[in-house]
Amino acid sequence: MKVLVTGGAGYIGSTVVSELVKAGDDVIVVDNLYQGHADAVDSKAVFIEADLADQAKLEEIFATHRPEAIMHFASYTLVGESWDKPFLYLRDNVVNALNLVETAVKYDCKKFILSSTANLFDEPERIPIAPDERIVPGSPYGESKYLIERLLHWMDRVYGMKYAALRYFNACGAASDVLGEHHDPETHIIPLVLEVALGQREKFIIFGDDYDTPDGTCIRDYIHVLDLAQAHILALRDLDENGSRTYNLGNGQGFSVKEVIETAREITGHPIPAEIGERRPGDPAILVADSEKLNEELGWVPKYPSLHDIISSAWAWHVKNPDGYEK
Ligand code: UDP
Repeated sequence: MKVLVTGGAGYIGSTVVSELVKAGDDVIVVDNLYQGHADAVDSKAVFIEADLADQAKLEEIFATHRPEAIMHFASYTLVGESWDKPFLYLRDNVVNALNLVETAVKYDCKKFILSSTANLFDEPERIPIAPDERIVPGSPYGESKYLIERLLHWMDRVYGMKYAALRYFNACGAASDVLGEHHDPETHIIPLVLEVALGQREKFIIFGDDYDTPDGTCIRDYIHVLDLAQAHILALRDLDENGSRTYNLGNGQGFSVKEVIETAREITGHPIPAEIGERRPGDPAILVADSEKLNEELGWVPKYPSLHDIISSAWAWHVKNPDGYEK
């Protein structure tokens, strides 16, 4: 299939691109390189540096390449930043998705996989969190993804566009020693902890240890980026059969911030000094996914559910690429 991947130079997007290429799909990557790295794009994919705000450019891309499906990763993705810069999220994320979807409809491209988020579940009534949990976006970021889910709902009703919205929990790990997680600035726990082990940071700050959890630190569901990638590919293949749906995507197990640090200490052999700091606004105590629907409908099971394997894969990438993609 010809698949257009927005944000295909980013951490998750580039991993999915590489898996699509391996599966024999033709991939066109569109990325503005705001957070992405051209080096991360598989050499068998077509790479176009472009911004989704530029609808004329999008038209040109669709007219030239005629994609049959879209995977949409390109987005501002930071919960904290979205409180400081809400318009970047509530305007740019949404308008860029609108431009993309409008162009897709115009060129009769009616399969869409959306990278959505667990930040839709700020006040879960049940843990693990099922896809039918009530939606309470936790930030302008979460709301922007929810607005895009609603946009897709209407594109299906009006134009018959079939979509899957995949709400990720904590994506992490590395697909190989050439594809890994590198953001600037870095805000995610696993790369930050590993940067301490590499001697690039003095210490790690734990955002609060007074949560209602066994060790007082937040619990998250860490899912290996390769497992995430497989779920996208399965969802894409299944769109014809079963139509639009939403899934929660995590490995179903929760680990605390302290457990992540302890596991990283075992793997790296570094003491990784950690200090307790203030809570980070918008962090719920526990986020763990119920991925049962994904398992039942698509036969998806995580291959790398162990925190040890996830952090080991990330560590191997960090050791090989201590400066990330900046060589
Ligand atoms: N975290 C932390 N210190 C940091 C970064 C993250 O204690 O410097 C915690 C954060 O509070 C959350 C977990 O690590 O409980 C995962 O955070 P991350 O930013 O990696 O992902 P998020 O859960 O925000 O998607």
